[in-house]
Amino acid sequence: MSTLKKGCKGEEVKALQKRLNLMADGVFGPLTEEAVKEFQKSYGLIVDGVVGNSTWRALGVVPVANKRYVDEIIVHCTATPEGEDFTVDQIRKMHLARGFSDIGYHYVIYRDGSVHVGRSEAVAGAHTTGHNTRSISVCYVGGCPARSDKAWMNKGKDTRTQAQRVTLVKLLKELRRKYPNAKIYGHRDFANKACPSFDAKKEYNDL
Ligand SMILES: [Zn+2]
Repeated sequence: MSTLKKGCKGEEVKALQKRLNLMADGVFGPLTEEAVKEFQKSYGLIVDGVVGNSTWRALGVVPVANKRYVDEIIVHCTATPEGEDFTVDQIRKMHLARGFSDIGYHYVIYRDGSVHVGRSEAVAGAHTTGHNTRSISVCYVGGCPARSDKAWMNKGKDTRTQAQRVTLVKLLKELRRKYPNAKIYGHRDFANKACPSFDAKKEYNDL
């Protein structure tokens, strides 16, 4: 695909507009630019309104290089207290300290609903024993009760914010489109854990 920006016209613009659920008139005008910027913002990409390789990839139009065979999409939580933020950098530090080569998750969804890329989809993650090579991992920030509960660390709680819920559905749908053979699970379907503190398999069964 070519790099597209405001002023471009043609079939590729139409394809872009369809992916963004816009009227596909094939003209990259201000509305298309606005939609591209919103998409870039929600995916943690550079918000410039220009559709280059990374945006095409995030849109699922250009395949990720060296695409692995993936038949599981596994949802996790950071197991951090309700109402508190936790960043990709913090998770990466924690995972490096654990001996991983990088952050274990592919995507992290912050409490404000923004999506942040962890490790590349092309590389197997480190998140679910026995399932890493065949899966993509998506982790939302939260999953435990607030710190005011002294035993928060030992309890699971579905702390997803409304914004995280919306983003989870959106991202999981995108991943299902990219990996048509993949089914959605929660970490707890493969381990004796509460993670991600809700029944992802059941809730996302129809995506
Ligand atoms: Zn987990």
